[in-house]
Amino acid sequence: MPCARIYEKLCKTMKIKVPDYYKDFTCKCGECRHSCCMGWRVTVSQDEYFRLLGMDCTPDVRHRIDCALLILKNPSPDRFAEIKHNYLGRCPLQRDDGLCTLQRDCGEEALPAVCRLYPRNIIYCTMGEGACANSCEKTVELLVAKKDSLNVEETDSPYAVIVDVPEEERDLQRKTFKLLCDRKLTLEERLVELGKALGIEPGDKESYSEEEIFKFLLDLVSDIEKYSPTFEEYSIIAEEEINILSTNIDMKYVKERYEKAKKTFAVHYPDYEVRFENIMNNHLFYERFPYSDKKESLLSKYATVCGIFILLKFITVAYTENKPTDEDFVDCVAGLFRCFEHSDCGRVINGRLARLGRLTYPFIAEAVSKL
Ligand code: SF4
Repeated sequence: MPCARIYEKLCKTMKIKVPDYYKDFTCKCGECRHSCCMGWRVTVSQDEYFRLLGMDCTPDVRHRIDCALLILKNPSPDRFAEIKHNYLGRCPLQRDDGLCTLQRDCGEEALPAVCRLYPRNIIYCTMGEGACANSCEKTVELLVAKKDSLNVEETDSPYAVIVDVPEEERDLQRKTFKLLCDRKLTLEERLVELGKALGIEPGDKESYSEEEIFKFLLDLVSDIEKYSPTFEEYSIIAEEEINILSTNIDMKYVKERYEKAKKTFAVHYPDYEVRFENIMNNHLFYERFPYSDKKESLLSKYATVCGIFILLKFITVAYTENKPTDEDFVDCVAGLFRCFEHSDCGRVINGRLARLGRLTYPFIAEAVSKL
């Protein structure tokens, strides 16, 4: 989750653009199966740390706050202390019924800003927009319930800080959003077209074997498993489901099992294309694609988007082979996006492609098409 200090700098209320499900978002609180109050490293700023320490509250809340906050080893004004989870992996401020003691007893204003705003990404609205993170179970539920494409609406935000972005990036954002909603093409075709729309050097048309593509995919899964426990929680079950956990696995067998799982997936979730479209489009909107404050080439950003799509599809298809409910689907997607949206998984995706000498449009496009 993001650090908190930036949320505190309230600006004057202004209009921002948000996807149309945004107005329907309400936190599930105690009903949430994978609450963001569990198992996630949340940091608070120095100002918020001292505010909470000096706050007037009941002895119960005071005890919980004292148990909850731990000053980081190398604190900075922005990332000063973190929530120390209890032996159940839960925030000590969370009550047995799942509700937050701080919010219940002291009101919403008492919450650290990161808890007050998550999953909304409505500060630094680079191009005047915001969205909810796919890492939140309720966001994915709202996206799964949507049968038409995402539309954009306006809402007031007191947090928005508009960053000056060249008009061409705004234009690419509009094009990306429109292209991903174009149901005349399959979602895979739309992602292939996206590379062209971004103006990425097409390179020489080459053909890659399915064996090479599946080997790349499994190596990428294993790279990400090494650093992301939330990703691994779902990827290991996915690999177990389709029986590909052993090390010397034949890629023809992986392909066969994956194709079989895809057929089952289409039966369990006949609207899966629409689901993936809205999930990916929301992700790109949330990330303000193609804007980035890091110095990255468009090819690198494109590789990250396609890598995330391939991983999302492969793991969700395999994970749900024997789990046909919407809850299973939502849990898997929200769990994976805790890695995709809150860690530097783009670096791992680009690193794997670069090591293979395959950080090229033809290879990425073929991987998207073949998987
Ligand atoms: S993950 Fe979303 S729905 Fe669940 S507790 Fe957090 S904000 Fe609420």
